[in-house]
Amino acid sequence: MKSVIQEEDYKAKYIQSEDRFRTIFSLTSAATKIIDENLVIIEVNDALTDLLGYTRAEICGKKIMDFACKQHIASWENLQHEMWFRGKPFFKLEACLKTKSGGIVWVHVTTIVFRDGDKRFAYTVLDDYTFMKSYQESEKRLNMSLQYSRMAVFELNLESGEVIHSEGLNEIIGLKASAVKLDVNLLIARFIEEDATEIENLLNSIPVDGSIDFVGRVKIAPNVLKWVHLQGRMEPGENTAHKLLGTVQDVSKEKKADQYKDDFISIASHELRTPITILSGTLQLLERNKPKGDPKLSGLIDQANKGLKKVTTLIEDLLNASKMNEGQLHLNKKPFNIVDAVNECCAHINREGVYKIIIEGDLFADIIGDSDRIQQVIINFINNAIKYAPDEKIIRVKALDLGDAIKISVIDSGPGIEYEKAAHLFDRYYRVDAKGSQYSGLGLGLYISAEIIKKHDGKIGVTSDYGEGSEFWFILPK
Ligand code: ADP
Repeated sequence: MKSVIQEEDYKAKYIQSEDRFRTIFSLTSAATKIIDENLVIIEVNDALTDLLGYTRAEICGKKIMDFACKQHIASWENLQHEMWFRGKPFFKLEACLKTKSGGIVWVHVTTIVFRDGDKRFAYTVLDDYTFMKSYQESEKRLNMSLQYSRMAVFELNLESGEVIHSEGLNEIIGLKASAVKLDVNLLIARFIEEDATEIENLLNSIPVDGSIDFVGRVKIAPNVLKWVHLQGRMEPGENTAHKLLGTVQDVSKEKKADQYKDDFISIASHELRTPITILSGTLQLLERNKPKGDPKLSGLIDQANKGLKKVTTLIEDLLNASKMNEGQLHLNKKPFNIVDAVNECCAHINREGVYKIIIEGDLFADIIGDSDRIQQVIINFINNAIKYAPDEKIIRVKALDLGDAIKISVIDSGPGIEYEKAAHLFDRYYRVDAKGSQYSGLGLGLYISAEIIKKHDGKIGVTSDYGEGSEFWFILPK
């Protein structure tokens, strides 16, 4: 009697545990299947049917290899063999499966063999990591494209100084890939002394919503320097430390190409200067001895003079730019009146009568500086106003006494400049519409102007409402 009760008890417990197993099996969110010794799928849960997009009936009776991507079948079968015939209790692998809709899912497979009575079965969990895989792949692609563009991305925590970065940053700044953990001090210390001071100052003074754009030299071996471009934008964190997110790029090749270009421009413009001077002298002689009563010849001489004036301006710009680049701008500073300077350099424009220059504001302001160079800046601003806003015949020059400095502005009502482009206007060779420009120019005038003002310890800039005109200004200390 006792043994019958025990037998019933055992059966009930078995059914109970079997039921529990089935409940867990069907409810678990991990895709799961049970196969028999012939590798035939005899049971699947909802998670697996959801994963593959097939119904239970379409999966049961088949083998998992029927759904596996070709490249994984051989190694998967090998592992099955080891488990079923060589006594290995389980195996694991990573593989991809084809879904009913033609897609692919990546799974971590774990298969465990178990015995039920005298039969063996295997229980498999297929853990879907497709999202992780695509994330890893896009990270790999990003790292590869960064590597090809000699670039790395970074995140700098401005409070702790910690730097998190993509692969390749250490190499760009001349450290071994496996070097000690990078922090802001080590990053700064990679730059040569004068550049290190500059970037340190920039980082210390960066506003919470500001950005940084810095090009400097890092020493990668004795007498070997590399040019590095660091750009970043502040990412203010709520209740967390402010972070600077950005890129670091090796721009040595670009710098070298720039150097070749500069050398060529410097030599070419020097060589052109002499024949142009001779040509100019010859044209002046011709001008003076123009035969009267020959309007055709007269017109040709005028045309030649205009062309020559353009060429001379271009060559002067090139020569000036090379000079600035080589740090050879020498100033001859004296006190002078800014309004007199404007009148002196631009009176001819008023005389010609097409455009009218109106000078307004604090007209008695005197400054100390190189009046020829400052005139060069004003002429450049005015010529640009005429060139880029030709329909507006009035150009305003405004002087504003700021107490210890003077602000001079040239204001036009032309097309104005888009905000994003305004930041680059003072870069060398920068032109807003470089390709399709209807106006001739080299993009050097504002660069030269900026260098002149910088040498005077002043500031230069532009304020523009796109479509409403521009105000080009500089501020000089008195
Ligand atoms: P360039 O006139 O030779 O192109 P600049 O350095 O003087 O070189 O000017 C750089 C660019 O700035 C110009 O190509 C033009 O696109 C833009 N720019 C300069 N002045 C003005 C202005 N007053 N209005 C609109 N755009 C201007």
